[in-house]
Amino acid sequence: MNRLNPAVKPPLWLLAELTYRCPLQCPYCSNPLDFAKQEKELTTAQWIKVFEEAREMGAVQIGFSGGEPLVRKDLPELIRAARDLGFYTNLITSGIGLNEKKIDAFADAGLDHIQISFQASDETLNAALAGNAKAFRQKLDMAKAVKAHGYPMVLNFVLHRHNIDQIDKIIDLSIELEADDVELATCQFYGWAQLNREGLLPTRDQIARAENVVHQYREKMAGTGNLANLLFVTPDYYEERPKGCMGGWGAIFLSVTPEGMALPCHSARQLPVEFPSVLNNTLQEIWYDSFGFNKYRGFDWMPEPCRSCSEKEKDFGGCRCQAFMLTGNADNADPVCSKSEHHGQILAAREQANCTNIQINQLQFRNRANSQLIFKG
Ligand code: SF4
Ligand code: SF4
Repeated sequence: MNRLNPAVKPPLWLLAELTYRCPLQCPYCSNPLDFAKQEKELTTAQWIKVFEEAREMGAVQIGFSGGEPLVRKDLPELIRAARDLGFYTNLITSGIGLNEKKIDAFADAGLDHIQISFQASDETLNAALAGNAKAFRQKLDMAKAVKAHGYPMVLNFVLHRHNIDQIDKIIDLSIELEADDVELATCQFYGWAQLNREGLLPTRDQIARAENVVHQYREKMAGTGNLANLLFVTPDYYEERPKGCMGGWGAIFLSVTPEGMALPCHSARQLPVEFPSVLNNTLQEIWYDSFGFNKYRGFDWMPEPCRSCSEKEKDFGGCRCQAFMLTGNADNADPVCSKSEHHGQILAAREQANCTNIQINQLQFRNRANSQLIFKG
């Protein structure tokens, strides 16, 4: 085949966003604001074709996410198909809709890994953030059930200004649930999190305190065999250089949305870039030859200050979505970078975090009604 860019390596990671349906309403959800517009979902056969094509190209890992992937009744079938193709399979779930029978079915289908997300370490805060009073109990039960089925217990907590001060209690809960891996990831500001940024961004002092607590727990737990991996991810709003987003545009990661749009990162559908659909193209055509996947590959597209910067091979100019959201032009340097002429926006957000007083009930929750209001304008 005649490739536009013969230097491009195949993808390693496929993220299958099976659905935008979800029973929870997290105000930091990374799903698009207008998700309610997207009602269509790929069929079982269409998804399996995507898996086959990705595997044929060399992808080795697949993540099933959403929305809440458990709402797809064909999930065991999809897991089995991916496993039979040789993928390492990972289910990313809120735990809502999970039960012992489903865990059995997933184990039977060959699922390798389950990650359950919590909103907080206590029932009241969890309910306020998830918009669901019963979610916390269900998550606790399912975390125990997942562990009992012999899966490595991976817990994920999204941190923000309303729960980061309870980080010690979050870690205690993870120890109590015998989690093997814990991901304490401070909100990254995309989708609903960006909409609610003022009410979610922690202060620098909150981050420093949390970092200190994590450090103390790491020292305390060392050698105990508990919490082998305690990962703490800070928000890039307190950095002077951006992250090397996705390991580079169209370098290792490929995401497919519920209705079949292929993206080089799960937030990229907001960009004014035309992205192809798996319904009209093979994944090979999409990955190697599509306009969208080639748009920000390499370095030739970069304007200054990235173009002549000695660090461009490290961070690829940062995140295109963040550049677009904050500067209106996705070609610009990510404003997290102190060399960006738009870095003042990041400094202003830090200042704002010190004086804002937005409460949880003032946040915009991710639900169909709010999504419809947003896209109807
Ligand atoms: S972040 Fe919350 S609302 Fe969004 S998909 Fe996950 S569980 Fe659902
Ligand atoms: S100027 Fe561009 S390439 Fe250089 S460090 Fe900043 S974002 Fe990265």
